Amino acid sequence: MFSFSENENVQDSASVASHAKTPNDNRQIQEYWFKEFPWLVYDKERNLFFCQYCTSDQLSNVFTKGRSAEQPRKDCLTKHENTNPHKEVMRKLKIKPSLCKQT
Ligand SMILES: [Zn+2]
Repeated sequence: MFSFSENENVQDSASVASHAKTPNDNRQIQEYWFKEFPWLVYDKERNLFFCQYCTSDQLSNVFTKGRSAEQPRKDCLTKHENTNPHKEVMRKLKIKPSLCKQT
């Protein structure tokens, strides 16, 4: 009856995997963020977010120093996008705001 316990193991690991994936989607880096926020750069090695526009303009803010991507939240990105220095850089570089905002 060892085959039974083997089977149980498979089921168990499957349920663990699905459980790990489940909710808290907003705590993970979402692929579409990079489309929505064209300025967003992710440093995999250091697990940090950067703003490539602010960085290129040598501004000093959270997204030029590197924001921890430990528990990434989209509203942090939205917040940064709405800061004046960032908007200023966007204006300077003549970058249009992301399409999704043009309602
Ligand atoms: Zn920025």
